[in-house]
Amino acid sequence: MDVAAQVAALVRPEVAELAAYGVQAAAGRVKLDAMESPYRWPEPMVGQWLERLRQVELNRYPPASPPALRAALGAWAGVPDGFEVMLGNGSDELLQLIALALARPGACALIPTPSFSMYRPIARAVGLEVVEVPLRADFGLDLAALRRAYADHRPALTLLASPNNPTGVRYPDADIAALLDTATGLVVLDEAYAPFAGASLVPWLAQRPNLVVLRTLSKVGLAALRLGFLVAHPAWHAALDRVRLPYNVGSLALVSAEYALEHRDWLDARAADVANARDELAAELAALGLAVVPSAANFLLVRAPAGQGAALQAALLGAGILVKDFSAAPAPLTECLRITVGTAAEHAQLLRTLSRALGAHTDTAP
Ligand SMILES: *Cc1c(COP(=O)(O)O)cnc(C)c1O
Repeated sequence: MDVAAQVAALVRPEVAELAAYGVQAAAGRVKLDAMESPYRWPEPMVGQWLERLRQVELNRYPPASPPALRAALGAWAGVPDGFEVMLGNGSDELLQLIALALARPGACALIPTPSFSMYRPIARAVGLEVVEVPLRADFGLDLAALRRAYADHRPALTLLASPNNPTGVRYPDADIAALLDTATGLVVLDEAYAPFAGASLVPWLAQRPNLVVLRTLSKVGLAALRLGFLVAHPAWHAALDRVRLPYNVGSLALVSAEYALEHRDWLDARAADVANARDELAAELAALGLAVVPSAANFLLVRAPAGQGAALQAALLGAGILVKDFSAAPAPLTECLRITVGTAAEHAQLLRTLSRALGAHTDTAP
């Protein structure tokens, strides 16, 4: 019985080429690798939340997309009147659902690259071709290259994160407007990091028929819930709702998100704290001699001095600090590390370790 041969014969080649998403073991480590919030709810809030969970009927399927929660998310994101909010099991699920709906034979997705690591596998898994358009060396959008790609490939879908991951760059409004003017298909603007940018293009939905916007609660302290949402014109919403599986968000997540949005002030205040801590950390990292990309997100992309990226990554790992390692990535990410904003104590530990590693390197240099 050769199961491997059966698998090889049956699984689509574009699926066989994908790598499963790996998650680093994190127990006992300082976790600055996954853009999570460092803040947990204070105890009184935890108590109230648990009371809400107690009322959930686990024997029942979840309610259909609760209107109160959609309204609260809509208010939080500044959704214009007449536009719809669709809930997803993380925004990853919503990306998959958009890709699924648009994946006609031969259709392609355009991705300004580097960007979120899930875009490509999500598109490939549903059979979309992928056209990657490299960002400029300063990680801005290359509008001339994008225009050419739209003309050459007529993509059905563009996946654009702003602020972008892993760079932290928020693209100028004029660049996004220019992209929307030239785009041939649907543009998904992924605003996972909008709460740290203090700005959002959700209001543009009212003028842009080829735009939908993705948001998530993952980066503002609720990564465990897996709750993302899509903001879209009712016509896009209706089309995408046809490929959404029933009960795609569980009751525990729904009830928890409802509670969280009733405490929007706490969410917003922590996002502001993170943005302030980011700016302080950026200055401290720059003072160590690292090149820091200006960030509007809850993380910083830093470039080590030439040849030192891998050594810095090793020193951090040795000290039990997890960051995202791009030290061996192709240009323009070569020698880079992506560091999620953490607590003051975590930053102190990070800076101590980096400072030592950079000093050690200088000492041994000829
Ligand atoms: C983290 C991230 C997401 C994933 O969000 P989930 O809601 O947790 O699935 C989506 N887009 C970008 C750009 C991200 O960095």
